[in-house]
Amino acid sequence: MSYNHRFLDGRRADLPTGKVICIGRNYADHAAELNNPIPAEPILFIKPASSVVDMTEPFAVPTQWGEVHFETEMSILIGRRLQQATEAEAEAAIAGIGIGLDLTLRELQSRLKEKGHPWEKSKAFDGACPLSPFVTPDQVSDLQDVGVKLTVNGELRQQGNSALMLNRVLPLICHSSEFFTLEPGDVILTGTPAGVGPVEPGDQLTAELDGLLSVTTRAI
Ligand code: ZN
Repeated sequence: MSYNHRFLDGRRADLPTGKVICIGRNYADHAAELNNPIPAEPILFIKPASSVVDMTEPFAVPTQWGEVHFETEMSILIGRRLQQATEAEAEAAIAGIGIGLDLTLRELQSRLKEKGHPWEKSKAFDGACPLSPFVTPDQVSDLQDVGVKLTVNGELRQQGNSALMLNRVLPLICHSSEFFTLEPGDVILTGTPAGVGPVEPGDQLTAELDGLLSVTTRAI
């Protein structure tokens, strides 16, 4: 199915589907669970537009390359072009806030990391980025106080809050825009709290931003 960014009220966003810029290890508890040190500067990587799918639809997990892990992350929809952005420009460019899954081929990623190779294939494959609809910025009173939660088959697996981010949203957008021009329709995934784990076909997932949105979906 073709994907188009849209808002929770059903309106289609008048924005193309662009790249997704992701940050690694933006929560200390998640860095610790994978025995990774906390990085001195943000670790950025990109998922292409071809990896984006609609999280409200059942999403496919590949089964031929080893374990696929879910990582539940607050997402930011960019509505304006940003280059070397200031925090004020970054804030004005936010068109929506949602939730997304940074699906990761964990075994493949580990093998690639061991060899010092780019981990691109483990993060950027087709379907690697299910995205929810977005709420508008005026619906979010404090970007740095948003609860993020994932239940899998009725069991709470991830629970965090954007207050615990090592790199806050606006500095993260600014830092990203120093390296990559952000275009309208791009998305930032802001990192995952602890609790990541495997997702398999048949699993039912509910991802939530506290008080803002909740998406129930299924892996196939
Ligand atoms: Zn992630």
